[in-house]
Amino acid sequence: MNNLSASELLNIWEQGRSKTLASQALLLLSASCPETPIDTLAELSIGHRDALLLTLREKTFGQPLNGISTCPECGEQLELTMKVADILVEKKIGPNRELTTTIDSYEVKFRLPDSTDIAFLDETIDMATARQEINDRCILSICDTSESKEISIDGLPVEVMNEILDRIAKADPQADILIDLSCPSCSKEWQMGFDIVSFFWSEINTWAYRILYEVRNLAMAYGWSERDILAMSPWRRQIYLEMMNG
Ligand SMILES: [Zn+2]
Repeated sequence: MNNLSASELLNIWEQGRSKTLASQALLLLSASCPETPIDTLAELSIGHRDALLLTLREKTFGQPLNGISTCPECGEQLELTMKVADILVEKKIGPNRELTTTIDSYEVKFRLPDSTDIAFLDETIDMATARQEINDRCILSICDTSESKEISIDGLPVEVMNEILDRIAKADPQADILIDLSCPSCSKEWQMGFDIVSFFWSEINTWAYRILYEVRNLAMAYGWSERDILAMSPWRRQIYLEMMNG
């Protein structure tokens, strides 16, 4: 995985600004892993994709992940300071292949959801329909071994279906990160979902506006091109900016 230069990151930001999070994730990965075909990247499980994105996030902005969460009980704002290493699940991730699990008399073949499964989801689809779509795509076959016949998802008891979904989630723990939080004011405890794609993209957005502002100021003061300014290290840009202010 390559580091992204300031200029590459700005280009990705520009290309991805009105795209879905799934597309933004693929833009970032294909730029940093140019040797891997985009179709291969799209077929990584969501957990595998997110592990790569966390690594890229660390290479780009460092280990600390700072965020804010609001206590659902008393409204207190909590400042969160985590590290990439805290979020990375220690599990060796292999290729996304067909898996089999058995629950009661049901033998279920499934694969883990990947970017192609979430890419087609229209943002206007409600969550229940979205879940149904992903299940239809990722649960490949169900065999009722007591009667030696294939059955459809609709024919499954609800508790068996829930158990299947639980096992799919457990097979790809990096895809569903929950952070335990507790409020210092009222002691309420809760869990917050952490999505590296929206977190990283929001940081890139803030960074992009800041760097464009720096480019504008340096270009106006010194007449340098955007390309030359972006090619400088952040440290050198900062010194020139400080010199401008006397
Ligand atoms: Zn509270």
